[in-house]
Amino acid sequence: MKLSCLSPSLPQIKPELLAEIAQALTADGCRLLIIAKPLAQRAQIFSYGLQPRNSTPIEKNLLWQDMLKPQTTITAPTSIDEVYLIDRIWEYPILAPLSISFAAAGIQSLLILPLRHNQQCIGCLTLFRSRSSFRWTDQDLILARRLALNLYFAVAQQQVEQMFQDRAYRDVLTGLPHRLLLDRWLNLTLAKMSGTGQILAVILIDLDRFKNINDSLGHRYGDRLLQLIAARLKHTLCAGRRYANGNSAIVGRWSGDEFALLIPELRDINAVKTVADRVLCSFDLPFVFEQDFQVLKTNSLYIKIGMGIAIATGDNLDRELLLQQADIALNRAKNNGKNSYEIYDSIAVDAATIGTSSPQLNRLRLENMLDRAIVDRKLFLHYQPQIDIQTGTIVGIEALLRCQDHHSNTINPADFIPIAEETGSIIQLGEWVIRTACNQSKLWQEMGLGDFPVAVNFSVKQLQDRNLIDTIAEILTETKVSPATLEVEITESIAIENLDLTISILESLREIGVKISLDDFGTGYSSLAALKYLPLDRLKIDRSFIRELKLNTIDASIVSTIVNLGHELNLNVVAEGVETIEQFELLRSINCDAVQGFFFSRPLAAADLETMIITGSYWHHNCTHPYNLLSH
Ligand code: C2E
Ligand code: MG
Ligand code: MG
Repeated sequence: MKLSCLSPSLPQIKPELLAEIAQALTADGCRLLIIAKPLAQRAQIFSYGLQPRNSTPIEKNLLWQDMLKPQTTITAPTSIDEVYLIDRIWEYPILAPLSISFAAAGIQSLLILPLRHNQQCIGCLTLFRSRSSFRWTDQDLILARRLALNLYFAVAQQQVEQMFQDRAYRDVLTGLPHRLLLDRWLNLTLAKMSGTGQILAVILIDLDRFKNINDSLGHRYGDRLLQLIAARLKHTLCAGRRYANGNSAIVGRWSGDEFALLIPELRDINAVKTVADRVLCSFDLPFVFEQDFQVLKTNSLYIKIGMGIAIATGDNLDRELLLQQADIALNRAKNNGKNSYEIYDSIAVDAATIGTSSPQLNRLRLENMLDRAIVDRKLFLHYQPQIDIQTGTIVGIEALLRCQDHHSNTINPADFIPIAEETGSIIQLGEWVIRTACNQSKLWQEMGLGDFPVAVNFSVKQLQDRNLIDTIAEILTETKVSPATLEVEITESIAIENLDLTISILESLREIGVKISLDDFGTGYSSLAALKYLPLDRLKIDRSFIRELKLNTIDASIVSTIVNLGHELNLNVVAEGVETIEQFELLRSINCDAVQGFFFSRPLAAADLETMIITGSYWHHNCTHPYNLLSH
């Protein structure tokens, strides 16, 4: 591949470069967003060819915003590996606000590549195609990744070089690069190290009793001491000396009395120890001040330090992790109490912390994943039909949320909904569920499968969300779904938690025409009297009453009472968790209206459910089907 854009230098980020990228990927247009550097004012956008017709940059849309957020998860240190491929723009509800400007330009599909390494994102490349017949191929993706990686290097390199020139990124007192710059430099150097077999050392240095020196000698001397230490560290490391590939060791001020040394291109661990020994030795000599300290009758001061070292190698190139490791090693060195250093030993530390930290870590991972789940397409809905007990027709479909972890295992809502509630992401997830269910319902209507309501489950946090009603109204308008085909399920325990609030929200929902069902009925111990105040359409009898349902048992009389009560209140009664023909027959004999459960169908992906509806297999799936039996 002979593309000059595979090794661009930044001044070339002009239409020619973008034109070349677009051509290589048979795109009709593309744009590159470069996020402003820390402390800098403006982001930059470069564009070429076909562009969406709107005045606000598309990168303000939630999809791009989420993509560009710094990631807090500890990601694999492989470089640019995220590619967001959107072949049919109109199928993505998150892009709905842009649909007009995409349509006006004739844009049909997108390829988006965040320019990110580790958790640092410096921009993103978006490519547009106007021909829907053209799909992005695997080869396109491979090339796009290479291009994005090269763009990342070019932009990051230039930003770091500019930051070195800019006084804003230097510590005023010592003139050393400060943390923001060290962070950028480290990220870029780690990205460049991938696959080279080189070693980089991150060394954090903490001064012993610096506070004491400040307090007893005064801040003027404290400041001067920091300047002297900075100069000595630079001298010891010959900082600024260029290594073979243009890198140099960096000394920076990390925080108050902490310095950081970043040393690239080391041969092996012995080379790291040599540097560390040299730094320690340099503190054997005193720091000499221009004037005597009155209190000490001398002008020189001996300082002790602790050093924590983390080593980046081919399989440990994660910036955050390295800094954490250096910190852990520093704490150990400080505990030794003398001038010393510790090198982080991952095996020893992991062995010591395993078991205690992993449940928290797993939870943290899940929290982060949920926050990004919509953008990362880790979420999907499964659908379970509800069937009229007399006619065998489908009278409703419940949408049930599923989430996929990074091993593509499906996680059930009972495990992640409580976390999403705690972190607050349930509001966003809930909105996504409603929108997706409405889109699906519309699709089924258009396919002629029926206009049964699709039910979504609500969490208590959603009920407390002030924007709930507006959001639902907006989604209904946007998806052009009739309100009566949306049903909301609220569990009995949520409903009675704050009865007044529930009643007012349900009434507002009723006003816009949405149907309401009381889920898991019988588990919330609500007073039956409360039922008559709730504006409801349906009552769903909890699975626990159905599980052991047999003739002449207590459960049978409870279920029969609930069915009668529901009918008294003019409610449609559905039994959940129907798994056997016996349960079904009994429910039919006591005039329950509808049934839902594994006996008919497990919750299924939309496409599988469609096949089931079209073939009718949910009610003649095998010779034991209820309607076949009942007709005899
Ligand atoms: P639910 O609303 O009562 O949903 C019915 C649950 O029973 C589903 O579990 C379904 O898979 C399961 N089920 C259905 N038929 C049978 C059966 O015959 N036998 C047995 N053993 N189970 C059956 P799932 O999908 O794990 O959902 C659990 C709960 O998570 C739901 O209970 C609902 O409260 C909640 N949930 C699901 N999706 C969402 C959502 O989008 N938002 C909120 N807030 N909660 C949700
Ligand atoms: Mg439900
Ligand atoms: Mg239920």
